Order: sequence, then structure tokens, then C-alpha cells
Amino acid sequence: SGGEQQFDLVVIGSGPGGYVAAIKAAQLGLKTACVEKSATYGGTCLNVGCIPSKAMLHNSHLYHLAQHGELKKRGIEVQNVALNLPVFMKQKDDAVKGLTAGVAYLFKSNKVTGIRGYGSVSAPGQVTVKKDDGSNEVLKAKNILLAVGSEVTPFPGIDIDEEAIVSSTGALSLKQVPKKMVLIGAGVIGLELGSVWSRLGAEVTCVEYLSHIGGVGIDMEVSKAFQKILAKQGLKFKLDTKVIGAQKSGGNISVNVEGAKGGNNETLDCDTVLVCIGRRPFTKDLGLEGVGVKLDQRGRIEVDKNFQTSCKGVYAIGDCIQGPMLAHKAEDEGIICVEGIATGHEPHIDYNCVPSVIYTFPEVSWIGKSEEQLKQEGVKFKVGKFPMAANSRAKTINEPEGFVKVLADAKTDRILGVHIINSVAGELINEAALAMEYGASSEDVARVCHAHPTWSESFKEANLHASFGKAINF
Ligand code: FAD
Ligand code: NAD
Repeated sequence: SGGEQQFDLVVIGSGPGGYVAAIKAAQLGLKTACVEKSATYGGTCLNVGCIPSKAMLHNSHLYHLAQHGELKKRGIEVQNVALNLPVFMKQKDDAVKGLTAGVAYLFKSNKVTGIRGYGSVSAPGQVTVKKDDGSNEVLKAKNILLAVGSEVTPFPGIDIDEEAIVSSTGALSLKQVPKKMVLIGAGVIGLELGSVWSRLGAEVTCVEYLSHIGGVGIDMEVSKAFQKILAKQGLKFKLDTKVIGAQKSGGNISVNVEGAKGGNNETLDCDTVLVCIGRRPFTKDLGLEGVGVKLDQRGRIEVDKNFQTSCKGVYAIGDCIQGPMLAHKAEDEGIICVEGIATGHEPHIDYNCVPSVIYTFPEVSWIGKSEEQLKQEGVKFKVGKFPMAANSRAKTINEPEGFVKVLADAKTDRILGVHIINSVAGELINEAALAMEYGASSEDVARVCHAHPTWSESFKEANLHASFGKAINF
């Protein structure tokens, strides 16, 4: 069959895992194709995830500052503050369009062959792409990389119509501001998109099964402080509570909840429900059984330390394998996986140094171990803390909420975990990531010259507190 195209690597999926891997592979000299079923590149992150949500978080924050007197307090008086939702949404859509088109441009400039269609592994070393017009294209591939990502976990018995009962995707393009919104799951998506619609005027109630907000890995001191801040902004929380079902009648939705251990039955009325109880790997019609690629109990593709699946020459990365479902985790896995394929180097990634960020206001971020994890592991540690109220930059611009907390080994002083709540926690955490990747002690960071007046000084001071027992400005 002379018409078949031959590639060194065929990547299935163009999310942050797949598109980054494809570009890196081409840069390393591999003849590379990337197969994408959707009309645009970029996957969940660029189309219906990180990018649109961050556009809406930023602009809803600006609206909230104007609407709730925060600008007035600063001597800036604006009359008749109003929300123009179509324009608000257009700014978000433009950001998405610009960035997804950017991936197409990068494919061209790096000589990655982009192929539109639904890919499946039809044999070892072979990918079949089903096109929209029903035709098939067969690609020969020395290596295949599955970067197929994830999809919304449905809530049994509650049908998502993406209008009144929405997943994150529908919540990114509601046609009007809900009066009352109930969200199921106070994890990352719930807190980010709940914040967006709350700032735009919705009354938002967050129902969470666990006793804390923020999902797994968050430090409990941070989670509690964070909840207080969000409650002050108007979000309502029902923790230790589970949703049993929901009924829609006319414009009203009744959400039935009860205590996590039973009892305390209650009905919450609203016009919009956001289902955000997590995501699950998307491996539908991928042909995995046919080539013997194994999945684990949670439906994730099993891989070894080289990201190779149980079928030789077939690799997997990102949301469809184990680990946190984060764009930067998918990207880093993509890069080291193709470096391994191209150069034979042993790939290495330190999952303890993958940062987590919640892009609310203030932002919340963390890396490494929480206090709870260290206690559970029996590790002796010191705590260095610095409140933002004592940071000159935060004080200057009147954004004093939050703190930086550094956990360092009691004996060696090595930094084991960093937990931050403040306006720029998502940026600051990357300094902590750099420090931890280099195995820094808290004294190391405390002795690095930091520019003044900056938010970063709060990280330096928290490290000073951890290493020396005392900060300077608090
Ligand atoms: P995906 O981005 O899901 O990409 C997979 C791609 O594969 C898709 O384009 C899909 O169409 C394609 N595909 C699947 N199967 C096939 C097939 N058989 N043939 C062809 N194509 C196929 N993470 C962060 O780090 N920061 C954030 O701020 C953040 N915000 C988020 C906000 C929301 C609302 C959501 C839902 C997620 C957010 N995430 C965030 C998570 C992030 O989007 C994911 O971790 C990331 O997109 C995973 O990348 P991936 O490449 O593994 O998969
Ligand atoms: P999540 O795992 O962060 O949160 C889900 C929450 O729902 C948890 O707190 C869980 O306890 C709760 N829950 C589960 N079942 C429930 C039930 N029946 N009733 C009540 N509560 C229930 O998942 P998510 O918020 O849906 O996000 C999905 C993925 O997308 C995550 O892996 C996340 O990392 C990623 N994401 C990341 C970002 C970011 O990095 N800023 C933003 C959005 C999404």
C-alpha cells in the first residue's frame, strides 16, 4: 500500500501533552505527525480548560473590584458599572482562538504534520485516522504516543445538558449570569468557576463530600484560611455533604443533598448546577485491547518509567496516565518521553516538584509535602511562616490577605514543601519549584538577594523564619 505515510512518531491528541511532545520530537529530528479529532489544536487546556477559565477569572476580578467599591476606596470613581457578558465572553474566545492558532503555526514552523481525525492504534506500529468524511488514513509509525487526555466524570443520575446543568465546559460559556448556582465538588474547578460566577453576581453554593475545600494535596491550614476568604467574598459552603440527585422542572433545579454519613436531608433550589467532581481518562475507541495496552482499575493507561505501555513502541503521557491532571505535568512528561525515544536517555521527572495552583483571588499554590503528609510519614520538620500583611508590596497596594508557609527538614534544613495564599501565588510557587529541584535548604533561599519591594520577599522571609527562627519584618 504505497499511499501510506511513514513517521518516526505519531502522537494522538494535541493537548499540552501531545502538542508539546510533537514539537520537541520534530526538534530532535524525528519525522512527526500529530492527530487531533477536534477542529482546533490545544486539547482541554487551550479550548475548554486553563486558558478560557483564566481569562474569565481575571476579567471577573476586575468587574468585582469596580462593582463592589474596591476601586472607589482607591479614589477611582466609575459610574454605572455594568457587565456586558457577550463582550466579556468574546475576550475569552479571542484568547482561545489566538492560542490554538498559535499551535497550528508552531506545527508548521517545526515541521510537525498535523492530521485532523479520530486516531486509533490499529496494529503495533500503525495508526488509523478516521476523517470527518468517513474515509480512513493509515499512518505507519515507528513509535506511537497516546496523549488523549481526559473528560468530565459524569454524576450518576444527573444529566449534563451544558445549559442549566453544566460541566466546566458549559460553565465557560453560560448565556446569562445565574441567579443561584449549586456546584457539586469544591475542588479546583468548583472554586475557580464558582468564583467567576459569584463575582459576576450569582449566589453560589458549593457542596463538597469531604470536610475541606481545594481537593487532594492541599495543606489543611491553607484550605481553612482559603475557605474563610472565599466565604467573605460571598461563596457558601456545605462540606461533609453529598448530593443524592437533582430534578429539573421549568427553570428550577432542586438538588437533594444529605450529610456525608447520612441524615440532614435538604433540598437546594437553583437555576444552574455545575458538576465538577473530577475528570477521567478518555480512551474510547482507541484500539487498545487489540494491541494489548493495559489499563489500571481507574481506567488509566499503564506505563513504565519510560512512559511505555504494555505494547512495545506505544507510549502514553498526561491526563490519560496516573498522576495529577495538570497541563504542566502533561508537558513535562511529553518532553522527557520523546527525549527518551529520540536519544535513549533515561527519562526523569520528580513528581514531588510539580506545583499546584488555584487561580482564584487571592491565588493558592503549593508544592512538595503538606504538614499532614509529613506527619503521616513521620518526618520531623520546621515551619517558617510569613503573613502578607507584613510584606511591603502587598501592603502598598492593599492586598494583604494570605501567607507563605515553608516546611523544612528539622535536621538538614532542606525545603520539603511550600504553601502560599496571596495575589500572585501562582507565580511565586515557581521560585519554590526551582529551589526544591536544586535541593535548596531554607537558609539557601533566605541568603539569596531578592528585589524590593516584591511579593517574592515574603518567600525569602518565610525561609528566614524556617532556618533562623525569626523573620526581619514580622
Ligand atoms: P488534553 O488536553 O485533554 O488533550 C487531549 C487531546 O486529545 C484533545 O484535544 C482530544 O480531542 C484529543 N483526542 C483524544 N482522543 C483522540 C483520538 N482518539 N484521536 C484524536 N484525538 C484525540 N491544568 C493546569 O495545569 N492549569 C490550569 O489552570 C487548568 N485549568 C483547567 C480548567 C478546566 C476548566 C479544566 C477542565 C481543566 C484544567 N486544567 C488545568 C487541566 C488541564 O486542562 C489538563 O491537565 C491538560 O489539558 C491535560 O493535557 P493532555 O494533553 O494530557 O490532554
Ligand atoms: P478535583 O478532583 O479537583 O475536585 C473534585 C472535588 O469533588 C473533590 O473535592 C471531591 O472530594 C469532590 N467530590 C467528588 N465526588 C463528589 C460528590 N459525589 N459529591 C460532592 N463532592 C464530590 O476535580 P475538578 O475540580 O473536577 O477538576 C478536574 C481536574 O482538572 C483536576 O484534576 C484538576 O487538577 C484539573 N484542573 C486544574 C486546574 C488548575 O490547575 N488550576 C483548574 C481546573 C481543573
